[in-house]
Amino acid sequence: MIPYGKHQISSSDIDAVVDILQNKFLTQGALVPYFEQQIALKVNSKFATAVNSATSALHLSCMALGVTEGDLVWVPAISFVATANCAAYCGATVDFVDISLQDFNICTKKLAQKLEDSHKNNILPKVIIVVHMAGQSCDMKQIKYLCDFYGVKIIEDASHAIGGKYKSKYIGGCLYSDICVFSFHPVKIITTGEGGLITTNSAQIHEKVSKLRSHGIVRNERDFVITERSILHYEQHDLGYNYRLTDLQAALGLSQLEQLDNFVQRRNKIASIYDNGIKNQKVIKPVVFNHNLSSFHLYIIRTSESNKTLNNKVIKYLLDKGIGVNKHYMPIYRHKYYQERMKQHCYLENAEAYYNSCVSIPIFPGLLDSEQTLVIDTINSIA
Ligand SMILES: *Cc1c(COP(=O)(O)O)cnc(C)c1O
Repeated sequence: MIPYGKHQISSSDIDAVVDILQNKFLTQGALVPYFEQQIALKVNSKFATAVNSATSALHLSCMALGVTEGDLVWVPAISFVATANCAAYCGATVDFVDISLQDFNICTKKLAQKLEDSHKNNILPKVIIVVHMAGQSCDMKQIKYLCDFYGVKIIEDASHAIGGKYKSKYIGGCLYSDICVFSFHPVKIITTGEGGLITTNSAQIHEKVSKLRSHGIVRNERDFVITERSILHYEQHDLGYNYRLTDLQAALGLSQLEQLDNFVQRRNKIASIYDNGIKNQKVIKPVVFNHNLSSFHLYIIRTSESNKTLNNKVIKYLLDKGIGVNKHYMPIYRHKYYQERMKQHCYLENAEAYYNSCVSIPIFPGLLDSEQTLVIDTINSIA
């Protein structure tokens, strides 16, 4: 079975990890701060905080923006569940915004309408989390304009999108958001095994997430509130977590980071071969807008009929031929956990149409030309 996604590990990745095992601290050493610094340099953010997953990164981001019980957080209907769960961890109520069928990102027209309605009813969200689906940036300029107008904070879930660009700048620079989050899970663009990272330009947010990553403990003399202290004193000020990344992981991440642009270039090459090779009228190919460079975490085709009969048929056909396809994703509100908690029935028409038609086909740097040819020929042979 050709998988839909796969990590790419080189001998220098292996050497970098072995070097840590033989010579350095396994965790809480110098490599994590260095990894953070290198990512911040790459994406042009003031700060970066590495954590053990993007899910943890999203959780700490919500906490840092003050999300708590009684708050409302909006997310796009189509994403991995972690995008919504992070708000639920904080006790917030999650609500969903429909997507656009052009780029599968949050629909800014529907967002504008929903903000206007919610403003009238006095139920605006505290935070909106947007997702750069498949690696293509949302329309961040418009999202920031709308959110500034209504006083809503923005988290970018860029789990798919490290190495991608919006208006010629790397995603993660937080020009149009408060916080941006990356994932380093093995199916994503670069990997640390498990891992995630938070970028921001706010010193205050950076301080908060860094503290919460490690139990809420402070170690700076200027922060201490206990006056009677011995040497080696530390204090816990908030209820934090152990969400730390290890030095082993940071070493792998640093080595992978050197390959980032190559990986993205290779993924774009694969995408363009699909763009040119897939000719079956039953299939709609994805579109990347001119102002975007997608990191192409996923190559999502859509079956051309709105009911899911054709979609099921295509998926079954491809799986039978050894092509590992997947569906990213079912609308989050359809999951049992959210069904049981939502006050109103949720049905978003583009999200539903998308779900009835999406198919992620194989894309990863190590995909062989012969494998890609098989994928293309198989898709073109669907009758
Ligand atoms: C993968 C993913 C996450 C979670 O990432 P982890 O690092 O596995 O916690 C969150 N959001 C989206 C959109 C993802 O694809």
